[in-house]
Amino acid sequence: MKIIVCIKQVPGTNEVKMDPSTNTIIRENVASIINPFDTYAIEEAVRIKEKYGAEVYGLSMGIPAATEMLREAISLKIDKAMLLTDRKFAGADTLATSYALSRGALKIGEYDLIICGKQATDGDTAQVGPSLAKTLGIAYATDISKIIELNCSFMRCMKITDDGYEEIEIKLPALITVVKEINMPRLPSIKSMRNAKSAEIEIVTSKDAAADENRSGLKGSPTQVRKTFVPVHDVNSIYLLGTPFEQSKKLAEILMGKES
Ligand SMILES: Cc1cc2nc3c(=O)[nH]c(=O)nc-3n(C[C@H](O)[C@H](O)[C@H](O)COP(=O)(O)OP(=O)(O)OC[C@H]3O[C@@H](n4cnc5c(N)ncnc54)[C@H](O)[C@@H]3O)c2cc1C
Repeated sequence: MKIIVCIKQVPGTNEVKMDPSTNTIIRENVASIINPFDTYAIEEAVRIKEKYGAEVYGLSMGIPAATEMLREAISLKIDKAMLLTDRKFAGADTLATSYALSRGALKIGEYDLIICGKQATDGDTAQVGPSLAKTLGIAYATDISKIIELNCSFMRCMKITDDGYEEIEIKLPALITVVKEINMPRLPSIKSMRNAKSAEIEIVTSKDAAADENRSGLKGSPTQVRKTFVPVHDVNSIYLLGTPFEQSKKLAEILMGKES
């Protein structure tokens, strides 16, 4: 079985800075970490490998410095890692990101399962997993909290929904996104960190991935960030105090214009 884990490098800070000229996140010279949700994806893939036997590939699209992050993923027991990096991939929205990742997945080839985190802590859209599955034409399920059964042709798993849990079956090859309830990620050992230092990361350019330039990076991104801003706290908010009856009476008065 071959498993691909999508791993995104995200800023290890809440103070994300934007480039005002391009409205994109400034990633250079910012301390970065593995997207926290992706650590659960890595752990789940490694647990499948340990239980059933599998080869686990880490796949990322990002700046060249993301190789260090992929080394960290290797220290967490994934087998190989590929970084899609090229100016042509820069400025990608979720559609172009999914397209680039799909080219990476096709280059890895013959995968059975793709595991993504539920969402990235910077972009935060939770769109890339489903969009990647759609681009590859495979089935997908989001918010998976447990893998119950897995074989070469299908998997049975538990999905978190708004109302509780749902047990689902999905035909492989498929993509799942995982939530933090799925496992407790391990810490790397000193030995695995040392081994990961010399691990080779496959660097893939747009040309290597045979990516269509019109579907890549800023050029292939139909979404455009027009403006970024921190929401201003509404100083005119009114807090209604009292019992529920008093609050609703006051609200009705405000709505009917009887209250100044
Ligand atoms: C117009 C526009 C321009 C942008 N320009 C830039 C830019 O120049 N530079 C930039 O970094 N971002 C840019 N972004 C943000 C970028 O689109 C998102 O960071 C990216 O598409 C992933 O979306 P997300 O962070 O919401 O991921 P989510 O959909 O929340 O992520 C879900 C999961 O998908 C996987 N995943 C997501 N992204 C990657 C990745 N890159 N590699 C591997 N796995 C991944 C991970 O498993 C992750 O847990 C831009 C966005 C827009 C709309």
